[in-house]
Amino acid sequence: MPADPPSLRPALFFDRDGVVNASPGPGYVNRLADFRILPGFLDCVHVATGRGWPCVVVTNQRGVSRGLTPPAELDAMHDLLRRTLADRGLALLDLLVCTAGDDTHPDRKPNPGLLLTAAARHGLDLSRSWMVGDREKDVETGRRAGVAATVRLDDDGTGANPDKDKPTAATHRVADIAACAGLLRRLLPDLRGA
Ligand SMILES: [Mg+2]
Repeated sequence: MPADPPSLRPALFFDRDGVVNASPGPGYVNRLADFRILPGFLDCVHVATGRGWPCVVVTNQRGVSRGLTPPAELDAMHDLLRRTLADRGLALLDLLVCTAGDDTHPDRKPNPGLLLTAAARHGLDLSRSWMVGDREKDVETGRRAGVAATVRLDDDGTGANPDKDKPTAATHRVADIAACAGLLRRLLPDLRGA
């Protein structure tokens, strides 16, 4: 008798700029020196990991296709992120980047391609997953991917998030990524033993 297929697990998806690291404001984070990791993000991964949730970062980086962000700098930022997490005994399941400049590209948020790719690659259940972002575009990405919950941050690390005062379609709205860690502590289901 064949073994049952492994069951799908949900994941916690995070936008990058304004969530993982302070937003660059208008434009892009083009240099490693400008990549400032937000402590609240590390706390979010800590909470999620403790409850058995894999974490995935999904990011638009159009500055690469515009020739503004050198790919080696982007790699260095993500190496720093992985090392910073590893110093706390943490890791991402994956980090997916869309460098396309074309808004119609299936991977460019708010299109859901990066989430669909992660789900197929890692056996994730999008219908139980969460998406965290600082822009309504991220909320829309989660909606298009069919996730269970979306979290929108008011502050993106600059105090000048252009979406701060917009009404949100998110299921949860919090002040910033540090407050998101608190939200996860209150609401994220514990998958261990589930
Ligand atoms: Mg962002």
